[in-house]
Amino acid sequence: ILEVKHLSKKFGQTDVLKDIDGTVKSGQVICVIGPSGAGKSTFLRCLNLLEKPTSGEVNFEGTDLTNVDDKHLVNLRERMGMVFQSFNLFPNMTVLENLKLAPVRVKHLSDEEAEKTAMHLLGLVGLKEKAHVYPSSLSGGQQQRVAIARALAMNPEVMLFDEPTSALDPEMVGEVLEVMQKLANEGMTMVVVTHEMGFAKEVADEVWFMADGYILEKGKPEELFDNPQNERAKDFIGKII
Ligand code: ATP
Ligand code: MG
Repeated sequence: ILEVKHLSKKFGQTDVLKDIDGTVKSGQVICVIGPSGAGKSTFLRCLNLLEKPTSGEVNFEGTDLTNVDDKHLVNLRERMGMVFQSFNLFPNMTVLENLKLAPVRVKHLSDEEAEKTAMHLLGLVGLKEKAHVYPSSLSGGQQQRVAIARALAMNPEVMLFDEPTSALDPEMVGEVLEVMQKLANEGMTMVVVTHEMGFAKEVADEVWFMADGYILEKGKPEELFDNPQNERAKDFIGKII
């Protein structure tokens, strides 16, 4: 569903991503791990062209996103959901309004249809009873679950997560990971930048280790965590597990 070829990204003189290749198949969960500054967020943002690659290809369902006009890009990007570390909900709208906004504005769903989908998704993330409250009255974990539901409301084919739990108090991490695990079990294609090694071990089909702008190792979680080949990966995994 996603294929990256020779992806590079420079900010000024700095090479942040260097010749990255990778394939994400439909239904796969890829966890991207690695030290701070490795380029993980930049890589994720290049997957939906929030960041424009300096060179290389990002093929989404066979279309090279680096090579389409802006209008087409907007349409393609709608098919990828993204969830950030900070929840970015619209503070002046209720939870339900947050979920309905894009489907009504962008997809031109009727109010009724959008509401039905929104309530279904709130059920999925366990927050039906919060439909009519404002985000500020929710805990961080609840806000992040709403943010996930909001991304899902556009019915994306891929979900991109950038450290979705790292801004949360420890006691709220579990509830968000649980929702993500449920999504994975339902067959959602996901690329997840995370420091949650338990989640990666349990849910990922593949783990990609990034450092210094390279993907230095890719493998099944049990291979990569228990028997890393790359020295940097060995060192990193030794420190975090
Ligand atoms: P973290 O784990 O801390 O989130 P990361 O792996 O996500 O790190 P990135 O945020 O992708 O790393 O950043 C990789 C490098 O690119 C860093 O050295 C960063 O300073 C640089 N960088 C990122 N965004 C920009 C930008 N907009 N302009 C210039 N440099 C940038
Ligand atoms: Mg980052």
